[in-house]
Amino acid sequence: MMGERTVMQEALFYSFRIEDHVPGDHLLRSIDRFVDLDGIREHLKPFYSSTGRPSIDPELMIRMLIIGYCMGIRSERRLCEEVHLNLAYRWFCRLDLDGAVPDHSTFSKNRHGRFRDSDLLRQLFEMTVERCMAEGLVGAEGFAVDASLIRADVHRQRSVPGEEGLPPKAAGRAVAEYLEVLDDAAFGGSTPVTPKRINLTDPAARWTAATRERAFYAYSTNYLIDLDHAVIVDVEATTAIRQAEVLAQRRMIERTQERFGLWPEKLVADTAYGSAPNLAWLVEDRGIEPHIPVFEKSARNDGTFARSDFIYDHEDDNYICPGGNRLRRSNRNFSTPRSGVDKDGSIRYRARQQDCQACTFRQLCTPNMAARKVTRSIHEGARDMARDIATTDAYLVSSRQRKKVEMLFAHLKRILKLDRLRLRGPNGAKDEFHLAAAAQNLRKLAKMKPIPGLALS
Ligand code: SF4
Repeated sequence: MMGERTVMQEALFYSFRIEDHVPGDHLLRSIDRFVDLDGIREHLKPFYSSTGRPSIDPELMIRMLIIGYCMGIRSERRLCEEVHLNLAYRWFCRLDLDGAVPDHSTFSKNRHGRFRDSDLLRQLFEMTVERCMAEGLVGAEGFAVDASLIRADVHRQRSVPGEEGLPPKAAGRAVAEYLEVLDDAAFGGSTPVTPKRINLTDPAARWTAATRERAFYAYSTNYLIDLDHAVIVDVEATTAIRQAEVLAQRRMIERTQERFGLWPEKLVADTAYGSAPNLAWLVEDRGIEPHIPVFEKSARNDGTFARSDFIYDHEDDNYICPGGNRLRRSNRNFSTPRSGVDKDGSIRYRARQQDCQACTFRQLCTPNMAARKVTRSIHEGARDMARDIATTDAYLVSSRQRKKVEMLFAHLKRILKLDRLRLRGPNGAKDEFHLAAAAQNLRKLAKMKPIPGLALS
């Protein structure tokens, strides 16, 4: 029988609990168990005046931001509307049906004010790491590191050539932040090379052609992840160049050791992290096995002998060439001994001219030079260790594990929709990357530790 809805009279009183209308398997229900914001008011106290109009509750701000980043809502205006309309979002924000949701301009003003001045978002991220550790999701046996470019929120036309520098009249928050980080090795101090172009809206964003697309302005988000469950154990914002990303890797490893007492046995990364000084830092300073392809500047593609065709004699400190002759640091005796170490930390070994002139391999070895030279880094021991690891079965496993960090970046861009920043300046990038990494860890916790009796898809 077809039913018919009958409304005789509107009820005078309603009994309504938001709690009853949030599905048991809603993602935010699961995430809510892992969000502990006790103490944030205490932490933020020094940033608030004791007089004046009360601000938005910082816990409400944080909960709204968690919703935005976990659910991929990138617009502040839309986030405020969604929290207003969606019962599950209201429940997560501890708002009842009458609870006031801030309008987007107030929300934005608060976000750029006290939150920016405190390190609250860093603390929020670290809270998620601690929770992952407490839940047994961090094994700390192996870490992987990588960086991904995120477009800056700028118009490419509003820029000047790098050699011109910023015009004196350039002003604004992002410009002030750019001037602040000019000497920071993760931003302006990472390279002496002048950028090709400087954007006037966000000068710290780097003009980069690192991908196959057209060049664009970007920041890099750097992730250090634990290989057990791909939990992000640290995150760092840098300018979009390799030197800054390698520095971020060091900062993140040091910080996770100091902050959480995590000492990985191995680090998995791509060739960008395979420079001699970085491998030496990992092996000699930190005692970490580098599962990293060695960055080889000496590789040749013209068919002539590569350096790997020369055998290093540890005892005599010289190389033996394929022709059976020795390449030495010096073939002359100087009255004042020379170190022979270049500014870039490499040592040259030279064959004797008469050996090469008489050699049958000359066309295959040094067709254009009178005598062959090969270079060896002062960190060659660490490079050799990385090369040895690269021949093992464990390295094959590590190469597959490296994909875990790439998948996190794909998730960040496709699901959480952070393929372009909404905030400007280095601090804007830091805030967004901390929140996104915190959201990814919370989603991981929700997935790996579902509410008993429920399994999230
Ligand atoms: S050309 Fe010189 S360095 Fe090369 S194999 Fe012959 S002797 Fe050795």
